[in-house]
Amino acid sequence: MASRAVIKTSMTDRDRMEKIVSLAKRRGFIFPGSELYGGLAGTWDYGPLGTELKTIVRNEWRRRFVLGRTDMVQIESAILMNARVWKASGHLESFTDPMVDCRQCKARFRADKIDLAAACPQCGARDFTGARPFNMMFKTFIGPVEDSAAQIYLRPETAQGMFTNFKAVLDTMRPKLPFGIAQIGKAFRNEITPGNFIFRSREFEQMEIEYFIRPADWEAQFEAWLKEMRGWIASLGLDAARVHEREVAAEDLAHYSKRTVDIDYDFPFGREELYGIAYRTDFDLGQHAQESGADLGYFDEAAKERFVPHVIEPTFGLDRTVLALLLEHYQEEGAKDGTRVVLKFPPRIAPVKVAVFPLLANKPQLVERARGIFERLQGWRRAMGEGLVAWDDRGNIGKRYFSQDEIGTPWCVTVDFQTLEDGTVTVRDRDSAEQERVAEPDLVALFEERLKA
Ligand code: ATP
Repeated sequence: MASRAVIKTSMTDRDRMEKIVSLAKRRGFIFPGSELYGGLAGTWDYGPLGTELKTIVRNEWRRRFVLGRTDMVQIESAILMNARVWKASGHLESFTDPMVDCRQCKARFRADKIDLAAACPQCGARDFTGARPFNMMFKTFIGPVEDSAAQIYLRPETAQGMFTNFKAVLDTMRPKLPFGIAQIGKAFRNEITPGNFIFRSREFEQMEIEYFIRPADWEAQFEAWLKEMRGWIASLGLDAARVHEREVAAEDLAHYSKRTVDIDYDFPFGREELYGIAYRTDFDLGQHAQESGADLGYFDEAAKERFVPHVIEPTFGLDRTVLALLLEHYQEEGAKDGTRVVLKFPPRIAPVKVAVFPLLANKPQLVERARGIFERLQGWRRAMGEGLVAWDDRGNIGKRYFSQDEIGTPWCVTVDFQTLEDGTVTVRDRDSAEQERVAEPDLVALFEERLKA
């Protein structure tokens, strides 16, 4: 088949966002949280394809930053932590956003995210209260007594788990500086105004690294990690023209940071933070040493000196990564046979790696042969630990291709009558829409080769 004439259709930013939200729901990537009961603001459930996409992103991140290095260990700390952790880290005191209320309609807003001189976006009144700090940590109680002594918090970041386990990691694994502790896990923030789909939710996932260094090395390490982050972003296929590094001004730095660079992405709703990197000095280890009374120092054998390491923290939001991937790779192409929607994920990232079709569903020989190929390919993905194989025998082949394009499946394998004669199948490529004939035993090697590209 000749490759199709491709005309990219134009889309407004708003359209793009709406289309992504609708596609995500329709095709099983992301559903509104608790929808059966009318929803729960700021929460989202990942469906089968979204879960696979997240799994692949987590694995890629782990392969790159943990398995691919000799200076990194990974942990999983508890979401519930002793409340003193948050006293020491400064979150109890200052993990706040400024909040204003509209006196007329009672709607609440983040004071730094709306124009207070303008009308209320909800009711049009011009009657805001003054801004006051609102602590974003979710409170809960541990044990059966609901009094202030039992009050704890859901962690608002994974980072503190690395600091509170620093000594345990040091004592058990004996790493030498510089080294990092990585963690992937859920974080919770009672955002005043969640929104923009999964960009700002109340429950989300972070992939964070606390990289412990000698204080004198901080500038070089900061640059090295910024470079690592750029490499990661490029590996996701995000267009560098849409990614912007923003030096956070001294007066806007978080209480623990001496330097922060936010890595922003041009989302349809504006240029907003995707990731961040901060030089946290020895603030956290110092605070925990003081609050707990433990010695959180490191003994440098070579220099025969003991000191509290400093920290560079690259932080990556998993949900914002998923959103950027969906937005970046969503394309509509006008074709003679209708608009084709394609998620042009890099094949490594695609949740479904390959789809298998029998040309005709009512020919048992074709179905049986295709089923065998489907199962063998599934065995291949099972061994890899990620990436789905789809089966489709509905409608005509054209419709099946369109359906796979929409979820970003890089290759479709069709078993036809020629397969029964010579053992070859057609492999159709998502991006070029070209088909080639491949001998069935060569399929896995072909896909592995292309996944490396
Ligand atoms: P923002 O300024 O957008 O509120 P932040 O500066 O508070 O973000 P950090 O505290 O640096 O964010 O959190 C680290 C990462 O966690 C962010 O770069 C982002 O990817 C992710 N993240 C933070 N808050 C949310 C949220 N409410 N929903 C989804 N991801 C989030």
